[in-house]
Amino acid sequence: MILETFCCGPCQTNSYLAACPITHKAFVVDASQGSAPLIQEALKNRKLTLEKIFLTHSHWDHIADAKKLSSLTQAPLLIHRLDTPNLIQPGKDGLPLFFPIEGVEPQEFLEEGSIFTVGELTIQILHTPGHSPGGVCLYLPKENLLFSGDTLFRGTMGRIDFPTSKAEDMWKSLEKLSKLPSYIKVLPGHGDPTSIGKESWMTEAKKKFT
Ligand SMILES: [Zn+2]
Ligand SMILES: [Zn+2]
Repeated sequence: MILETFCCGPCQTNSYLAACPITHKAFVVDASQGSAPLIQEALKNRKLTLEKIFLTHSHWDHIADAKKLSSLTQAPLLIHRLDTPNLIQPGKDGLPLFFPIEGVEPQEFLEEGSIFTVGELTIQILHTPGHSPGGVCLYLPKENLLFSGDTLFRGTMGRIDFPTSKAEDMWKSLEKLSKLPSYIKVLPGHGDPTSIGKESWMTEAKKKFT
């Protein structure tokens, strides 16, 4: 699989460009501030066609360039229904915006168990609420890979003190991720990659963080 990471914006938010090496069809995970022109250039240089823009959740640092990237590439935006209001009207989730962000309507919704194919790549959606109600992870079992958004980071998890966060949901989501095979590589919304096996604390997350 072709993979490129773009760490952008004031929160150093990771946007990922992934593509099937056989068909050159690509998808993006999250659109951090300033990532759109960089992704567009990478698509051109690598001769890739962007098929989908997946948003792991609607916090401003992950959607800042969503509208721009979608307009530049004509690729559809996909997000979980429960995180849609803040994509359409950024700031609705109660988090302060440090710069204006243009709202945009998604074209498709992500749900627990949804399966998407991009070229030869199969992407399975896991609904992982807690950090935000419509948070999702993208699981690529054949690639041994998980895009974890802000649910799971290396050594820790996403914040649960935001207005739309829910601790009890987070414990369940981490429990769910802990059941994936230990060799699955994890690419988070912030910071360095990790693996399911390295984050064995997930089963005791409630004890660790309360
Ligand atoms: Zn977030
Ligand atoms: Zn974030």
